[in-house]
Amino acid sequence: PEAITVGELAKRMGEKGADLVKELFNLDMMVTVNQTIDQDTAELLVEQFGHNITRVSEADVDIAVEEDVDPAETLKPRPPVVTIMGHVDHGKTSLLDALRGTKVTKGEAGGITQHIGSYQVKTKGGDTVTFLDTPGHAAFTEMRQRGANVTDIVVLVVAADDGIMPQTIEAINHTKAAGVPMIVAINKIDKPEANPDNVRNRLLEHEVIVEKMSGDVQDVEVSATEGTGLDELLEKIALQAELLELKARPDRDAEATVIEAQLDKGRGPVATVLVTRGTLKRGDTFVVGTESGRVRAVVNDAGKQIKEAGPSMPVEVLGLGGVPSAGDVLTVVENEARAREVAQYRQEKATEKRTALAPTSFDTMFNQAN
Ligand code: GDP
Ligand code: MG
Repeated sequence: PEAITVGELAKRMGEKGADLVKELFNLDMMVTVNQTIDQDTAELLVEQFGHNITRVSEADVDIAVEEDVDPAETLKPRPPVVTIMGHVDHGKTSLLDALRGTKVTKGEAGGITQHIGSYQVKTKGGDTVTFLDTPGHAAFTEMRQRGANVTDIVVLVVAADDGIMPQTIEAINHTKAAGVPMIVAINKIDKPEANPDNVRNRLLEHEVIVEKMSGDVQDVEVSATEGTGLDELLEKIALQAELLELKARPDRDAEATVIEAQLDKGRGPVATVLVTRGTLKRGDTFVVGTESGRVRAVVNDAGKQIKEAGPSMPVEVLGLGGVPSAGDVLTVVENEARAREVAQYRQEKATEKRTALAPTSFDTMFNQAN
């Protein structure tokens, strides 16, 4: 997640710094050649100038596990994975909580305390939606850099009383760079000073044209604190998901991506993972990053131990040998010998890559292909 100066990026692209500054100005970013821009903005620029991007991803390290593409006939529909982004204080956490609240009231009475930040919700229409609690834009970018593009849909939260702010623009750039569809949630419409049409208008300047402005980006007015518009938001997510025709093979050894992980005092290393394909089961032997392990428990978003977790499910996994990093891929393998083998291979690869890396990892991000 390093930044790069505009001047350095221009040099690598073989373009004039001033031309990049001009393009950035069009993206509403006032920067000079000596200032730094974040990686997604840099990627967007590179693409806009018609250059190719070479992304160095950790996924390269995964070739020890055979490239096995699941045959089309084995694929089944899976829930969409949604990440909420937006400017600080525009209501991301409140919206995550409010959406989760709808589930608690519909499910167990008494309001169970939720266990993990990422969770699934059922819409009124019966669809399931997965919400990922990723700590900020940096995490989104870092995971993407590592080839772990797990988000299917971004919900961009914009406070109706505050409008488009710097991190709103950042989120738009991240989303565009990731090629992920966006739904705009115009939040805090309960406030007297709320001006949702102003938000819609200002979004035009960033080439986000919402439905009400005759565009194709879905928008919905919500109030996270009052609970207004939440069902509508869920419906729009389900609609968007339908268009994406998201599928994964459930009946195979699981692959999952680490969303977050920490060392728990009582339980040891614990990782929240998102299952990307297959079904993760208690007792499975796995490799995550360069560590091997055996699934001691699978815990769902309500804190309950479950036997197995299928595609798009966020679960906690216990039984890790160490604490993995966000974006690490957990791969189930047939036995412990194989797990050790893959872990060792990944370790070697990681070492190789570290020594091969230029002074900053960002240096390897781009090359001038044309
Ligand atoms: P985040 O930084 O984007 O996660 O924003 P938070 O969810 O922490 O919300 C920031 C502040 O805005 C808090 O004080 C919330 O109570 C408030 N807030 C969030 N959503 C709404 C809303 O829909 N209406 C009103 N009036 N306040 C809200
Ligand atoms: Mg927050």
